[in-house]
Amino acid sequence: MGNFLAYDRAYWKQFIDSVHGQINNWTELQEQSEVPVLKKTDIQKVIADFESSENWQSDLSKIFNYSNHLYHPGYAGHQVVPPSIPSALAGYLANYFNQGMAVYDMGQAANAIERIVLKRLRKAFGWDDAEGIMTSGGSIGNLTALLAARQAFDDVWEKGVEDHYTVLVSEDAHYCVDRAVRIMGFGAKGVCKIKPNDQHKITGEALQKAIAEVRKENRKIIAVVGSACSTGPGIFDDLQAMGEICQQEKIWFHVDAAHGGLFQLSQKLKPLLKGAELANSMVIDFHKMGFTPALTTSVLFKNGLDSYKTFKQDAAYLWPEESSEPYAQSGLRTLECTKLMMGLKAYANLKWLGEPEMARMMEYLVDLAHQFAAEIKKRSAWELFQEPEANIVCFKLKNVDKSSALAFLDGLIKQGTHYIVGTTISGQFYFRVSIMNVATNLEHLTAILDQIEKLKNE
Ligand SMILES: *Cc1c(COP(=O)(O)O)cnc(C)c1O
Repeated sequence: MGNFLAYDRAYWKQFIDSVHGQINNWTELQEQSEVPVLKKTDIQKVIADFESSENWQSDLSKIFNYSNHLYHPGYAGHQVVPPSIPSALAGYLANYFNQGMAVYDMGQAANAIERIVLKRLRKAFGWDDAEGIMTSGGSIGNLTALLAARQAFDDVWEKGVEDHYTVLVSEDAHYCVDRAVRIMGFGAKGVCKIKPNDQHKITGEALQKAIAEVRKENRKIIAVVGSACSTGPGIFDDLQAMGEICQQEKIWFHVDAAHGGLFQLSQKLKPLLKGAELANSMVIDFHKMGFTPALTTSVLFKNGLDSYKTFKQDAAYLWPEESSEPYAQSGLRTLECTKLMMGLKAYANLKWLGEPEMARMMEYLVDLAHQFAAEIKKRSAWELFQEPEANIVCFKLKNVDKSSALAFLDGLIKQGTHYIVGTTISGQFYFRVSIMNVATNLEHLTAILDQIEKLKNE
């Protein structure tokens, strides 16, 4: 590579060795709780600190210092995992090989591996004819699926948006569904938010009522979206009832299983997804319950040909189903042209850990959520939002207003032992944990209650 610093391996050898050694140290410090989970610092200070460092050596320690330490057993905040070792290294390889994927020749291994990942998923759902695509995140994935739903409804790709199209979804759904609808040009009225029942599920009854109301306004329903699970409360909609109604009414059923879709790999957890197999399309994030680094999302279409509808509705004629070619030309089916060979990160866990081991990890986390919920119910000062279904638990202190609760949350994080978040459900503030780290145990979680109680009594 001539005399360019960027590719001078002798020059960077020390950097490579240093990073390699540091990763071990960093992980150990987190696992042993020897660093705060998060050292909350004002961004101006962080910027100034980086700007004052003179070389990569001091930058490395600052990157570690200011990061949210996901391998710490007290980390139970957002739905971000400490990536498994094989998948994190697969991410490194993906960046190193840098195989674009839009055209098969840009990434033969990348396209083949992505296909294998999708095949393993479709097998789990018994979707023999399914095909799909991987996208950079569930938000893009949901948009991709809804674009296909819209195109299946009418040739909007050519005609543009002429009608009053509507998507039906729970009030508790992830905000990206609302965004996708507005990006598609349906406006604020294009999303009909259904109020969930007391268990925070969308039931068949509620869906039927919403469908009737939307139709009364002469709006056309292009899709119904089920959450598996919802992001805030972590509750699964009644997918079976929703799916059956969509089949009767001939409405595209999309399941946003960004968080919980991989529960299908576990015999114990898959009942939560009952009815998801009735969907036309589904989004599953590996960077949530698949233990990979971000972003690693799969979009599955039960009828594989639907996956070509979005951007090129006649692709099925150009590339017949038997041909191996269209699957390999990923660019036909995504917004993204160049993209990371993200399939490798999912493949690393599916192949090198295996589905049973991934299931064991998910079951551990969900089981822990139930144990923690039981502990909350035992304590008179606390109120559980409702029995968890996934690895997300919401809970609040009785008779404490939101501003005090926020102060306790802040106090807890400042102590450095834990990182959790807050959320508002039906106008009420709750503490919320997403248990994403298999190093976390019940004691780590009950310590959250102890410490907040102490802050309250101070
Ligand atoms: C996380 C999540 C999303 C968004 O996915 P990203 O990968 O963060 O873009 C969408 N829906 C649900 C249900 C989620 O849990």
